[in-house]
Amino acid sequence: MSRIALAAALVLTVSTPVSGLDVSEYRIVDLTHAYNAQTIYWPTSPSRFELTELAYGETPGGWFYSAYSLCTPEHGGTHFDAPVHFSASGAPVHEVALEDVIAPAVTIDVSAQAAADPDYRLTVEDVLAFETRHGEIEGGTIVLLRTGWSERWPDTSAYMGDDTPGDATRLSFPGYGADAARLLVEQRGVSVLGIDSASIDYGRSQDFAVHVLAAASNVGALENLTGLDRLPPAGFTVFALPMKIEGGSGAPMRAVALVPRESR
Ligand SMILES: [Zn+2]
Repeated sequence: MSRIALAAALVLTVSTPVSGLDVSEYRIVDLTHAYNAQTIYWPTSPSRFELTELAYGETPGGWFYSAYSLCTPEHGGTHFDAPVHFSASGAPVHEVALEDVIAPAVTIDVSAQAAADPDYRLTVEDVLAFETRHGEIEGGTIVLLRTGWSERWPDTSAYMGDDTPGDATRLSFPGYGADAARLLVEQRGVSVLGIDSASIDYGRSQDFAVHVLAAASNVGALENLTGLDRLPPAGFTVFALPMKIEGGSGAPMRAVALVPRESR
């Protein structure tokens, strides 16, 4: 290569612009409930969210200082279920691939069905009807199931169907049906199943079939989401980032969606 050609190649290399994500082109939707004393946990949870003040106020040095400690079971509030939650060979939360939780997403809306039947479960027919309108759901997609249940938060009895401490046998809220979950996980190859109720299995479930089949394919879950009414059916991206707890079966999570501004 001549000196001139080499110089031209170098200029070309260094002057090629690297464009980052232009966030201004997106509407950012928070899919996360705040953690506080009203945060809803499973009825059998031994404890709830605790925020303990360590310091708050003016210091002798003249500056303000505040700090807290926090304590929470993994599975409460807006959180992530790692595959190891229901599969001994599933990934713990720190090993979940970031490509699985930062991914294109779809919103399947069954809020009308759930309003008529609180024990409603997503059906295969619902998934196929969605695909007829919006195209086949691609592998690696994050599926968000909108039931409308986040509007009941944080009223525990309205949200869970029962508020008896320690008793998980009388719960009632919508979720995924096992056949629909099997279609999404095993045939479509989706990366994560999300929902705006307390569990991807409906409240009456006693065998957690959806958790078990999802975990067997190393598919995690996003539970107690909110803001799904602000999302289009398709064409957006979800960032669902759980706290990186080494060996954890799940973790509190901040989930957001980036929706292109031209859509809806
Ligand atoms: Zn969970």
